[in-house]
Parts: sequence; C-alpha cells; structure tokens
Amino acid sequence: METRPLTGRTALITGSTSGIGLGMAQALASAGANIVLNGLGDIQEIQTLARKMSDEHDVEVLYDSANMLNPEEISTMVKTAEEKFGVVDILVNNAGIQYVSPVEDFPGDRWQAIININLVSNFHTIKAALPAMKKQNWGRIINLASAHGLVASPYKSAYVAAKHGVLGLTKTVALEIAEQQITCNAICPGYVRTPLVEGQIEEQMKAHNMSREQVINDIFLVAQPTKRFVEVEELGQVALFLCSPAACSINGISLPVEGGWTAK
Ligand code: NAD
Repeated sequence: METRPLTGRTALITGSTSGIGLGMAQALASAGANIVLNGLGDIQEIQTLARKMSDEHDVEVLYDSANMLNPEEISTMVKTAEEKFGVVDILVNNAGIQYVSPVEDFPGDRWQAIININLVSNFHTIKAALPAMKKQNWGRIINLASAHGLVASPYKSAYVAAKHGVLGLTKTVALEIAEQQITCNAICPGYVRTPLVEGQIEEQMKAHNMSREQVINDIFLVAQPTKRFVEVEELGQVALFLCSPAACSINGISLPVEGGWTAK
C-alpha cells in the first residue's frame, strides 16, 4: 500500500464532533494521520463516529471531551494524546461558538464564553502542545479564525474581537517558532454551511420574518462575492496543504477562504 503523506503523524482537532472540525479530522485521517477528536455532543454518537473514522481510514481515533472553557482539561487532553502517540504533530484550533447582539445588550457571560472558547483555548492548546513539537523539530499549528478576523460585521463584537485576537496569536507564535520546522497559520473562512451557521439562519428567519432562501441570499451570501457557501471539504484540503512539505515556508499567515469577501 502506498504510504499516505501523514502516516505516523497525530492530529488533535478541537471542536471536531461537528462542522469544519469534523471535516478537518476526516481530511487528515484520509491522509493517514491518527486523530484526537474533541468537542461536545452525545457520547455514544461520538464513539460511533470515532469508530467509523478509524475503520474507514485505517488510523487510530481517540476522543477527548475536554471543555475549551477549562485550561486544566485542555492540558490534560494534550498530555493524554502525548502519552498515547508521543507528540501532537498537528494541532488544529477549531472549537468556536457565536452569539449575535448589539454591543450595549451583549450579555457579559456570552462575551466571556466566546473569548474563552474562540481565543483563550488556542493559547492553552498551543502552550501545552508546543514543547513536544519543538523537541522533535516538526509541527503544524492551524488556527480557525474567520473572515471576521479580518473585517467586522455589526452585532458580532465578541466573535470579531476573538477572531482578530486569534490572528495576533497566530503571528506571534509563528515568529517564536520560525527557526524550527514548525509553522503556525490561520485560516479565515467566509460562510461555511455547518450547524453553527444553520443555527444563525434559523435565528435570522425568525428575527426578520424571512424565508430560508431570503436569509441565505440577502443576509449571509451578500458579503460573499461567489454567492455560495464555502464547503467543509474545501477547508479540509486547505489544512492538508498547510501540513504538506510545499507549505513549509508558509508561516504566520491569515489565509482567507471566503470567495473574495475581504477583497472588497
Ligand atoms: P460547529 O458549531 O459546527 O462546530 C463547533 C465545534 O466546537 C463542535 O464540535 C462543538 O462541540 C465544539 N465546541 C463548542 N464549544 C465547545 C467547548 N466549550 N469545548 C469543546 N468544544 C466545543 O461550528 P463550525 O461552523 O464548524 O465552526 C468551527 C470553527 O470555524 C469555529 O471556530 C468558527 O468560528 C469557525 N468559522 C466558521 C464559519 C462558518 O461559516 N461555519 C466561518 C468562519 C469561521
């Protein structure tokens, strides 16, 4: 059997029980990487998902339920992965949540949860995983930011602040590890049709008394020049590219995958 490019590597993807994270996990597993899944959800369904992924791609798949709000659970998750696989070679910081509200009405606890899950957890995973990457002199860190890491939209103050923060963290880590064969980059997707966006579509339909089609075309895809959602599979391929030897000099970038949204 032909050796796949990531055979022998281990990838830990936060928030990989759904959406983009799950797509990233599938893509990395298909390239031969062992996978550490993480995220919320029904434990039986997640175990079934993990078994299926393992069988389909002939790789090991572990699940860790660490809550991205809890720094101790995050460092234990990385330690457990290292005990099992030696090192987390590829770290994908993907877990994220959204809440939409005018800034003056934004509930303080929602603001803090978005900052902690979407930004602060990235600091804790990187801090925990980097020493072993440095020891072996190879690693890939991929942070899921957003087009909202580059530009703002009204009513998304916490999300936009967190994602701008992710880009700052990405650049700083990239400089700190630049002399090793480790890279740290951010991907900035536009709208991707996932459960996170599905929830927002439902909310907007209710709030504006609009049809699903109207909400999709007049609210979501209005900013996206291609007038179509980015697909989860496209992002999986971008992650694979960032893990490939061809991308070894790509470090500290914020890569827009948003059909030209931020070109305007
Ligand atoms: P999703 O809701 O489908 O998945 C989010 C994942 O994060 C799930 O696995 C969930 O269980 C996990 N998660 C949430 N809170 C957690 C916590 N406290 N601890 C551990 N895991 C937790 O969302 P998605 O659309 O796939 O988004 C994934 C990432 O991509 C997010 O960071 C999001 O901001 C970013 N993003 C999404 C879009 C989009 O249009 N969907 C666009 C740009 C960026």
